Amino acid sequence: MNNPDIETATLSVRLAAVVDNYRTCARLADTRIAGVVKAGAYGLGMEPVARALANIGCDTFFVARLEEGARLRPIVPDTRIFVLDGAPLHCAEALIAHRLTPTLNSLDEIAVWSAVAHSRRTSLDAAVHIDTGMNRLGLPAYEATVLVSEARERLRDLNLVLVMSHLACSDDPSAKMNAQQLARFRAALAMLPPAPASLAASGGVMLGRDYAFDLARPGIALYGGNPQPGTPNAFKTVACLTGRVLQLRCVDKGEVVGYGATFQAERPTTLATVALGYADGLMRAIGNRGMGAINGMRAPVVGRVSMDLITLDVTEIPSATVGTEIEFIGDTISLEEAAAAARTANYEILTAIGARVPRVHVSAP
Ligand SMILES: *Cc1c(COP(=O)(O)O)cnc(C)c1O
Repeated sequence: MNNPDIETATLSVRLAAVVDNYRTCARLADTRIAGVVKAGAYGLGMEPVARALANIGCDTFFVARLEEGARLRPIVPDTRIFVLDGAPLHCAEALIAHRLTPTLNSLDEIAVWSAVAHSRRTSLDAAVHIDTGMNRLGLPAYEATVLVSEARERLRDLNLVLVMSHLACSDDPSAKMNAQQLARFRAALAMLPPAPASLAASGGVMLGRDYAFDLARPGIALYGGNPQPGTPNAFKTVACLTGRVLQLRCVDKGEVVGYGATFQAERPTTLATVALGYADGLMRAIGNRGMGAINGMRAPVVGRVSMDLITLDVTEIPSATVGTEIEFIGDTISLEEAAAAARTANYEILTAIGARVPRVHVSAP
């Protein structure tokens, strides 16, 4: 339950910005856009995000797990939901029951899904995921070779609704691997039965029309992350993580702060202790490195992050008082700044935000 009177921390999620970012993807890629809402829409709340996207005409979603697809199905009943994990035999019943479309990741899965179709005397929708060099998920090259030479036979019982691949380095527009994967993907498409194709996630959306094909699958861009950190961000801030000051104190030069006494004041210092910690997703790595912000003014994190608390130097911000709201992600501290301080990626900053932090979804105006 959300009760602003007692809440100390909040993750507010601007659904209007998600919608804007979806449209920005459509404009940049000039193709159809699916919503990637796996991992609870990257921690922001799958249900409200999926609803907001479906309301503006998004008719295709991607999740990772079967369970996510099952949860999403009643929320967006009239859409296509792809399950990236694929279709091992024990999942077939549930995939069909929830009208989920698996992305088949191996010849084995193609055989299993075909056998299920055959035994039901029907054909089943499927996506085929070709691995073009990332070597993570999808048919590896030696399996893709078999598939293209025996496509008629092996895909006989399936409706091939999508052929997809995934880029390993699309966060870096200068990476040679992008063009290499594009060439491999085109070669595979040329030898497979005609079907809609999809290569680009958020990074791919930034790589231009060549990478757009028939469907792009952005996730992080919808949530305001910069798909290519270090370049200007085309996407609007969606997530704002704030905590409140629980206590203020003034310490003398030479005093230390927090576990391990890792910070020592070099001047008389005003400290604000805020009710957010690593159990809420603020990474320990930002101890003595990260920043919070009060009304756009930055305050450095001092000392270690503890489970429920973090301490900031607010000496330069005299307006700070008990109850003052401090931003850790939002309009001042971008996901990318937070990620750099934590030595991680914008993705992990979002997905790490703890279950304890209430999500407040701000609807489109
Ligand atoms: C997670 C994922 C996406 C979305 O990636 P972003 O970088 O967040 O846009 C797209 N496709 C696949 C296969 C994924 O696993």
